[in-house]
Formats: sequence, structure tokens, C-alpha cells
Amino acid sequence: MRPATFAGGVHPAQHKDSSAFSIERLPAAEKVYLHLSNSCGAPSKAVVKKGDAVLKGSIIAEPDGRISAFIHSPVSGVVEDIKKWPHCSGKKLEAVIIQNDFKDEPAPAGNIKDPSLLAPSQISEIVRNSGIVGLGGAAFPADVKLSPPPGKKVTTLIVNACECEPFLTADESLIREKAADIIEGAKIAARALSAKQIIIGIEDNKPDAAQELLNRSSERIKVKLLKTKYPQGGEKQLIYAVSGKKVPMCGLPLDVGVAVMNVGTVFAVYEAVVKGKPLYERVVTLGAYFRKPGNVIIPAGTRLEDIINFRGGLPDNVNKIIFGGPMMGQAVCDMDVPVSKATSGILLLWGEERKEYECLRCLRCASVCPMGLMPRESFALYKAGKAYDKAMNCMECGACAYVCPSGIPLIQYLKLSKKNLSMSNVRLPAGRDLTPLSKNGS
Ligand code: SF4
Ligand code: SF4
Repeated sequence: MRPATFAGGVHPAQHKDSSAFSIERLPAAEKVYLHLSNSCGAPSKAVVKKGDAVLKGSIIAEPDGRISAFIHSPVSGVVEDIKKWPHCSGKKLEAVIIQNDFKDEPAPAGNIKDPSLLAPSQISEIVRNSGIVGLGGAAFPADVKLSPPPGKKVTTLIVNACECEPFLTADESLIREKAADIIEGAKIAARALSAKQIIIGIEDNKPDAAQELLNRSSERIKVKLLKTKYPQGGEKQLIYAVSGKKVPMCGLPLDVGVAVMNVGTVFAVYEAVVKGKPLYERVVTLGAYFRKPGNVIIPAGTRLEDIINFRGGLPDNVNKIIFGGPMMGQAVCDMDVPVSKATSGILLLWGEERKEYECLRCLRCASVCPMGLMPRESFALYKAGKAYDKAMNCMECGACAYVCPSGIPLIQYLKLSKKNLSMSNVRLPAGRDLTPLSKNGS
């Protein structure tokens, strides 16, 4: 049977060599830097102050609103300071800095219960108290996803095991080593959602991981093999590939009775509910030119420089560092930036800046867009002082920029259109100046 997929997309070189290694644990650094902006939504509120002692797993910040998350310390030690610290967004944001005492003293574990006896609301509460956010990159608070609003029913939980970005293999390694726990976590999440069915979507370039899941599949838990294509792990693309359902433009998976959770997120749900362990560390791929590549459990808040030094130092040829994958990740320019719960990978890369040429009107960008957009319109309209009115449907996957033979930074133009559309709510008045694009397109 041919693996399922979606229309459009691209086939970048995979570079998944890091999948050859077993998961290791990075030693804890002398200090960790935990930003209060650690999830999608409002920054958390610190509940500790300078000089306070903390234990491994104790709460250092609480949510400030519904879309916000608890933060736990990954080490035992003392709060050294709470101050602005470099963040992967390029800004300096408030962070709790903890001096590690290397005693590894754990906070008392929560009251652990048999998951099959827990009500959906109790599961959501444990997930919230454990600071679990979506580990696929969005860092959306998982308890919110597990609590559909009144009138919305989830029939299917789709577990995203695609990991379609080149270089990244953290999810693949986790599946190979923890498939049973992932399945348990998915069952617990499905119980919280009252979902009848669980479907795990995985690309066909991970045969060992797929087999681990298939060995544990059942009538209720299905594993669907998907074509290896980027962005197969995009929420709408995944839902279509595994179920044939189309999420409406600007709609949510909930609109078609589906919730999507990443493999790492359901594993974190398992650890929180079954073991009473909050989310304060995760598996991160160290890829490309790392002297010691692999998949490594890293405490949240560990500085980039500490991570690189633990793995043999920075190779001379590296001129670009990315958090996440090369298609949707974020370039990081400061070695003090720490990893967060959302950091799926760190890539040390080397490459020349792409030059930008005139648009050839070849429409390759449109042919690969998984959302059926005309990406060149964002660029052409920008030149005319207008915004592309369909830009809000863009998922910023970067497939259009990847195939553009003229090296046009299409995502930057799409982001500008989005910004200008949200400022004007619908469409910019004729002649209104758009937000200018900087020289390097960022
Ligand atoms: S792929 Fe690039 S050159 Fe071709 S139409 Fe799109 S923007 Fe223009
Ligand atoms: S327009 Fe947006 S969704 Fe379409 S390919 Fe480009 S980045 Fe991806």
C-alpha cells in the first residue's frame, strides 16, 4: 500500500545521521537560565526570589492566565537572580537564574494514581501542574489542548511522529527507546479528551521506530505510515494524510473532531501522570557539525555555550547556529541563549548567504505550497505597497523559499503581509506604507 500524504511539499536532503546514536544525558551545567516566556501565550509569574533554595522539579513560576504554563527547576540549588537574559527571539527577556548545587535533591513527587481511575479533568490538571507544553515546537500548553471547549468533541487523537524537518531525530530516538511509554501517554491523553481512536502518523523513513509502534498497535491504536515529504508533520497536512479530513482555512483541528499531539508531548504526559515527573528536560538533537552529534536529554535552561562545550567545543567552520530544524528553526546569534522545552534540536551549520535575484515567475513556489497559496504574491504585492490577503493561511513552513531559484526570502515577505494585515485587520488602505523589510530580509 502506498504511504499516505498531502498535496505539495518538498523533498530536502534528510541528513538524519544523528539517529544512529542511543539517547544520552548531558551533564547539568553550573547554572540554568529559565525564561518566564517559555510557552505560547502569556509569560509565567515567578514564585521564587533571589536567594531561595529550590529542589529538582520544584515550581519556580506559575501560569499567568489560561494560555500560560508552570515552570519547574531542572536542578537543585539556589536562585541567583531574576533578570533579563538573552532569549532565542533575539530579545532579552526575564529569566530565573539558578545556581546548581549538584546535589540533585528532588522535590517530593505528586500523588501518583492509576491513570485508568482518573477523570479527564484530573488528567488535564496533572498535565497543567507538570508544565507540559507542546514539544513539537509551538510550546502550546498541553492541558488546554486536552480540555476542548463546551460543544467541541474530539473523536480522534492524532500523535505526530513525523519529525519531517531535516537533521532532527529526537522523536525517532525516543520512539525507538520508549515506544511503550509513548503508547501509554497517548492512551492517557485520549482518556482526557474522551477520544475513541488514536492514530499515530509516522514517515516511512523511520522503519525501526515505526516497527516499535506497529508492534504495540491495536484495534483502537492505529499506526499510519506516511510518505517522507516536508512538511508532512504540519498539523493540517498530517490530519489530511491520516484521516482524509480537511481543516478549514483559519480553522482548528477541533473543527474536524481531532486533537494533534507530538510524540514527545505524549511521552511527557506519561511521565507526569504515571511517574509524577514534571517537564524540566527533554531530548534534543545535536546535529550537523557538532563534534559529538546525537540525541541528548538536556535540562531546560542550559546555555548554548555549555551544551557545545560539553560536546567538544565549536568547530571552526561553523557560521550559523539554529534552534530547531533548518526549515522552520530560529537562527541564534548569542552563545548565552538557553534551550527551552520547545527546543527540538540544535544545528551547527556552515553556508554562504543566498543572493537574491529577480522573480522569474516560474511559480515553483506555488506548486509546492501545502496550503495552496501563491507565495510570490506576497513579494509582488509588497513591491506595490500592498499586503497579500491570504498570508494569514501561511504556516511559515518555508517550502516556497526552499525551491525559489531566485533566492527570494518569501517567508519574510509573508510574515510582513501577516503583520500588516493584523495591523489593518483586513486589508491595507491603498497607498499605505508597509512595514519595511530590512536589508537581509529579516
Ligand atoms: S519560485 Fe521564486 S522565482 Fe519562481 S515565481 Fe516563486 S518567487 Fe518567483
Ligand atoms: S506560502 Fe507559507 S505555507 Fe506556503 S510554502 Fe510558503 S511558507 Fe509554506
